[in-house]
Amino acid sequence: MKYVSEFRQEEPARRLAGKIHQLMEDIDRKISLMEVCGTHTMAVFRYGITDLLPEKLHLLSGPGCPVCVTSNDYIDKAVAYAHQDKVIIATFGDMVKVPGSRSSLAQEASEGAQVKVVYSSLEAIKIAQRNPQKKIIFLGIGFETTAPTVAASILMASKGDISNYLVFSGHKIMPPAMQALVENHQIGIDGFLCPGHVSTITGSKIYEFLARKYRIPCVVAGFEPLDILESIHLLLSQIKSGQAKVENEYRRAVTYQGNLKAQKLMDMVFEKRSTSWRGIGEIPGSGLKIRKEYSSFDAEVRLPLKVAKSREHPGCICGDILRGLKSPLDCSLFKRVCTPSHPVGACMVSNEGTCAAYYKYSEGRV
Ligand code: SF4
Repeated sequence: MKYVSEFRQEEPARRLAGKIHQLMEDIDRKISLMEVCGTHTMAVFRYGITDLLPEKLHLLSGPGCPVCVTSNDYIDKAVAYAHQDKVIIATFGDMVKVPGSRSSLAQEASEGAQVKVVYSSLEAIKIAQRNPQKKIIFLGIGFETTAPTVAASILMASKGDISNYLVFSGHKIMPPAMQALVENHQIGIDGFLCPGHVSTITGSKIYEFLARKYRIPCVVAGFEPLDILESIHLLLSQIKSGQAKVENEYRRAVTYQGNLKAQKLMDMVFEKRSTSWRGIGEIPGSGLKIRKEYSSFDAEVRLPLKVAKSREHPGCICGDILRGLKSPLDCSLFKRVCTPSHPVGACMVSNEGTCAAYYKYSEGRV
């Protein structure tokens, strides 16, 4: 199969692993590389990539799973919206199971709230058209990858005068979060495997400030085993030679400028604001708010609400895991209490969550 099988071959993988071992011998110190994409985290475990790497080379899983980084405050508000009269919550499936401070959407649905799982924001618009007497609140979760499609849905609702379609925006953008992680010296990141999906929209240019200002090597990486190994190889080559630049390993999908049409859509509908990331906290300019021109589709404007102060489950260390400080194996609840069918924290819910990846693929390896 074109663009898949070529990137899964064993022999080239072993050759790359050999080069990585050689580079690590030359560098001769502990190196920590962070992957900032949940799909990378899953791929690393699925293909057993850590088994091929030298001991001193650490892959840290960062805040790349959109469901995982969504704060409890957002979940609590979504639950509060679900309680309101004549409201239907439309959401991607993962969000339903994420536990908030006191409840989850799944729990609310089992008690009568109207929660519909959709595969796109356009499906949510169709629900709005079929239910004119109700307000449909679409939970806008995700990074630069999904924000343009949600922006398009708001424009569509605006043109079609679908006034009962609202979006509760929890959208986030990557660069400010990566900057916050680099500035946290406790983590000690030597290089970034930059998110492939996000980069298809933004282009590789958005990481240049990390190389220029912080001297952090960055490589935009694809999702097949050879993509990831080659990207690690490129990062180590930069580290060995004392360079810091942005390289694009995922050239078959990512360009320097990115998808300009999608960027324009996003800019038309959203503006930046400060927002809270699970585990990292408030990061200025890292969230997307619906612009005033489209505020009639903004759930926060049309249906403002206040919820009690949010709280985390006392045993869950999702926050530390999302900052790359701990692994799921450090969590006393992992596998014993917290499982994909009974998740205690967000990182066990989504397929892209680090705890879910460990649960699914780490048997016998860790
Ligand atoms: S295993 Fe469960 S409780 Fe522990 S950090 Fe992960 S999501 Fe939280």
